[in-house]
Amino acid sequence: MSDNPVPLLTAKDLYKDFLTSKKQVVHAVSGIDLTIYEGETLALVGESGCGKSTLARTLIRMLAPTRGHVFFEGEDITGMPEKEFKPIRRKMQMVFQDPYASLDPRMTVRDIIAEPLKTYHVCRGKAEVTAKVRELMGKVGVPEEFLYRYPHQFSGGQRQRIGIARAIALDPKLLVCDEPVSALDVSVQSQVLNLLKKLKKEMNLTSLFIGHDLSVVHFIADRVSVMFLGRICETAPKEELYQHPVHPYTRFLLDAIPQADPHLRDESRSLISGETPSPVNMPSGCCFHTRCPFASDLCRTKAPQMKDIGDGHMVACHLTM
Ligand code: SF4
Repeated sequence: MSDNPVPLLTAKDLYKDFLTSKKQVVHAVSGIDLTIYEGETLALVGESGCGKSTLARTLIRMLAPTRGHVFFEGEDITGMPEKEFKPIRRKMQMVFQDPYASLDPRMTVRDIIAEPLKTYHVCRGKAEVTAKVRELMGKVGVPEEFLYRYPHQFSGGQRQRIGIARAIALDPKLLVCDEPVSALDVSVQSQVLNLLKKLKKEMNLTSLFIGHDLSVVHFIADRVSVMFLGRICETAPKEELYQHPVHPYTRFLLDAIPQADPHLRDESRSLISGETPSPVNMPSGCCFHTRCPFASDLCRTKAPQMKDIGDGHMVACHLTM
């Protein structure tokens, strides 16, 4: 990242609650402060169900926040009228987790990739649309002769490439990738990750990458934010986080990466036990205290605030206070 990073998207005290069919409130995202800087790839990691995808969707206004604000290029987009938001929407695009479910099986590749081009009237006439679709297929490595094929005629990796072509069609500034390789075979994952890296460079993209596989995240990210139960507990530049994790939950996640050498294991991992609490009944104090081997009375009563411990490393844990 540059010495003077420019914020592209900033979330301030962002919350997202859902109501269940039993009228219970699920606190999916709680009090998130986060900045994504221009040109970087910020990864959001955490166990499934921790609120990563909900946070990503709330950031780009696919979901309305319960409270809090999101700023894009300095503008508060939270309550912006839809008409005013539309030109901003095209700058934020998403690649979905499931390349099988995210493509309409009744549409040809041409029509799938052409959809955003038509919505925003960026091409004049059919021939121009087709030429642009061909260009996008070339960018993501799908042969042009497959223009009129349907999604079921492609492998998972190729379908994800088509999803990526659709996402970059409008030349976005921010690409949100929601676990884009977790539904793919391991052998194909690296090809798609390399494609995302190549596109980021070529198109000067900023990216929010959601993942739970820390090896994948290490490959793709510049900075990493760790989420637990709807909150961010630690954020740091990638190497700093992987080499000097501070929050007990981050240490637990990193130690869960298979290690060939058992001496490299962090002893704290074996001390972490129990189930993740329900986002319906959030624990008091630190949301990790029911699983944390270092929990004190303070942890059980007072939520730790995010603290800057230097070099862009932020941690929310009473042990650092
Ligand atoms: Fe553990 Fe307390 Fe830190 Fe929470 S604040 S992670 S409970 S030591």
